[in-house]
Amino acid sequence: MRFEYDPENIFAKILRGEIPNKTVLETEHSLAFEDISAQAPVHVLLIPKGAYVSYDHFARDASDAEILDFNRAMAKICETVGVEDGFRAITNARRDGVQEVPHFHLHILAGRPLGRMLERG
Ligand code: AMP
Repeated sequence: MRFEYDPENIFAKILRGEIPNKTVLETEHSLAFEDISAQAPVHVLLIPKGAYVSYDHFARDASDAEILDFNRAMAKICETVGVEDGFRAITNARRDGVQEVPHFHLHILAGRPLGRMLERG
């Protein structure tokens, strides 16, 4: 699989400081911020700072340090935003996954019952 990263995507602009964001956590290799169109009381997006299009791209090509940092950031977010009653972590990829922003991101949703994972198609 060839992954082509578009440096003009909106999360790349956030990482360059060209667009504001409500930061939840920043680490050496990762950034977490509030989703602009929250679908639950907690809706945080966690992204790597590196230029990765999707989870499979990140998991294949990111360094061990980036992958560790991303996962530890995930745990830190869960400690701070209130997920005692549960949460859902989602990542969408490409067309069938209905990915809108082509920079790998993990949605972390919590704060209300979230229903079934998928509608039955
Ligand atoms: P996805 O469909 O998985 O690519 O999700 C993209 C997410 O990015 C959506 O939940 C949007 O609400 C969110 N989003 C788009 N632009 C921004 C922005 N400028 N700041 C924060 N979240 C954004």
